[in-house]
Amino acid sequence: MTAARPAARPRDIFLLTPGPLTTSKETRAAMLRDWGSRDTDFRELTRGVRTKLVALIHGQGSHVAVPLQGSGTFAVEAMIGTFVPRQGKLLILVNGAYGQRIVKICQLIGRAHSVIETAEDVAPTAQQVEAALQADPAITHVAVIHCETTSGILNPLAEIAAVVEKQGRALLVDSMSAFGAIEIDARRIRFDALAASSNKCIEGVPGIGLVICRTAALEKTAGNAHALVLDLFDQRSYMEKSGQQWRFTPPTHVLAAFDAALDQHAAEGGVKGRHARYAGNCKILVDGMRALGFETLLPDHLQAPIIVTFHQPADPRFHFETFYDSLSAQGYVIYPGKLTRADSFRIGCIGQVHEAQMKGVLEAIKACLKDMGVTQTGPAKRAA
Ligand SMILES: *Cc1c(COP(=O)(O)O)cnc(C)c1O
Repeated sequence: MTAARPAARPRDIFLLTPGPLTTSKETRAAMLRDWGSRDTDFRELTRGVRTKLVALIHGQGSHVAVPLQGSGTFAVEAMIGTFVPRQGKLLILVNGAYGQRIVKICQLIGRAHSVIETAEDVAPTAQQVEAALQADPAITHVAVIHCETTSGILNPLAEIAAVVEKQGRALLVDSMSAFGAIEIDARRIRFDALAASSNKCIEGVPGIGLVICRTAALEKTAGNAHALVLDLFDQRSYMEKSGQQWRFTPPTHVLAAFDAALDQHAAEGGVKGRHARYAGNCKILVDGMRALGFETLLPDHLQAPIIVTFHQPADPRFHFETFYDSLSAQGYVIYPGKLTRADSFRIGCIGQVHEAQMKGVLEAIKACLKDMGVTQTGPAKRAA
């Protein structure tokens, strides 16, 4: 047997991806003990997290937060299955992969649906939604992706919420990559449910999905859910009847980390503070990349400060796998593109990353382009 080599000292790795994200030491340290799921301490942790989540959208007294074991998609599927009754019909606004995922959920769980699809760099408009609702009285609910992480586009949540309310329908929001960094005021924006997760802009570790629900709407959803484990009505009722216990084994350590992350979020100035840091990160990144000759997919007015899509350089010496490996060897993990029409890659601005890391990734990119011999960083001219 060969002696095991001592592991190389792990270097700092920064995740410039849509999640999981770079977390702080304090957040990771919060996981260094065990909890019994019925411990008073742990139940208080659950109560505290739920209270903090509701406060983030100014929903005290009107809304309730329902955490769920699993990733963000578990929360989205639970939201659709719990809120859209079996006889209901969901209008889905699609401009990327996460909108498509809701279509797939409806197909699988058997909920009638229709779609308004726009290109990945085009936001749906309130007028389109209003026309669709007027044309089809069978539609009971509308689903919108707040920030469509496929491209990084910010969809117009407030405008869409206003027409959905005016037309007397209910709104379901996938705010996964926006919640915690983009202001959502439930006193002004009416929705029945909004899905998010522990590991995006709150900067917790992955493992908890959550749905913030308008309490009066949630109370009408008994018996709707298509799956035992994804029943938000039951999850919430059980928590409240049992003194904040979870129906099934809770992700204890993940919740403790989430609570620590929520406290750091508050200390940073809440949604405003976090938005300011991410917007600063995004500006450094976009300005720096443009200075290197790269082009963004989106014009600045549609870009959320969450993740930025860049066109791949036209230069034949550019090779994405080499680029990716070189950046990751330098400590920066980026993300491949997910666009259907053009070759692209994405760099996130979210997580425990600051000015130094955004400047660092730009330096790493510069070094890598030099190694590859890439001089033409602009995209290929698209065929007319
Ligand atoms: C990250 C994300 C999700 C959930 O993805 P998971 O991989 O299940 O955590 C859903 N919607 C959007 C818009 C997202 O960015």
